[in-house]
Amino acid sequence: MKKYLILFLVLTVMVVYAADFVSPVAGVALVTSSFGEFRGSGNRGPHFHMGIDLSTNMRSGVPILAAADGWLVRIEIDDDDIYGNVVVLEHENGLRTLYAHLSKFSPKLDSIINSVVSEFGKKRIVVNFPTKAFFFNSGEPIGYSGQTGEAAQPHCHFEIRSADESICYDPASFISFSKPKDAAFSVKSLVIDSERYTYTEGRVYQFKDAFPKIAMNAVATLNKNVIGLKTLKLYFNEILVYDINLGEIPLDEFNNVWSVYTNDSVSDGYSYNAWYKLYPDRGTSLVKTNKFAELGKLPSRINVKIVCSDIWNEEYVVKFVVERR
Ligand SMILES: [Zn+2]
Repeated sequence: MKKYLILFLVLTVMVVYAADFVSPVAGVALVTSSFGEFRGSGNRGPHFHMGIDLSTNMRSGVPILAAADGWLVRIEIDDDDIYGNVVVLEHENGLRTLYAHLSKFSPKLDSIINSVVSEFGKKRIVVNFPTKAFFFNSGEPIGYSGQTGEAAQPHCHFEIRSADESICYDPASFISFSKPKDAAFSVKSLVIDSERYTYTEGRVYQFKDAFPKIAMNAVATLNKNVIGLKTLKLYFNEILVYDINLGEIPLDEFNNVWSVYTNDSVSDGYSYNAWYKLYPDRGTSLVKTNKFAELGKLPSRINVKIVCSDIWNEEYVVKFVVERR
């Protein structure tokens, strides 16, 4: 009986959260980058993508909408850093939302922005607002799309953060974005013990040492674009061994990308190749299960299964066999 009550409460909380946020881009919002993707370059070094990118059809000036009723916390006026011009709101559920790469802010902030820019010039300016000074209604424009900061083309970068801004959450857990019809899953390659292979379901690959060190280059593909995965679960002979979950990332792990991605990974604005590291290397809160230390002596032939999910919570299964050399 108790178990059902807890389940009910969990579902209720999830429904309330999900209903709280709307997409910051009106219409059918197309996700062009997912939460937790590898980012290889830029001012702040290799890092995780801490939000999602929504298409504005490569246009600047598209209204970017408050994802829920909320109070203005801060604006960042900034042409050079990765986020460019930023708005941060705080909502009644305690979460904050962040909107980046804006070309312009909401007209109702014009007089404040004009006065701080005339006082401090064009360098980076962060304006923190007193509690409950400026309110935005859900769906009201907080600014307009652009490509300030490190944005190859105009789009909306959108984040959901904890109240103290120590954790970023996958916005796709709060807003259900429509899945394009042509979306698919693709395994580009596998690496097993530093050897690179094409993936064929059921194929037998070789490994050495105590356990196979597997890395997988896999993505969700949509039209000409690719986006990252949300979860990867590795099974040896049907036993869950390793579980990477990119649902939330603490900001103090912003640069801890080598815990989850191998250094073959590339993200340079033109191509995206993310190699998920399916074995422990360095500490991270993104790995929810790690049984490598408890494996003991593995048999010489192992059925490997990798269950992946995308931002639409669709699951895909990768299956092959490894044999010890
Ligand atoms: Zn982004």
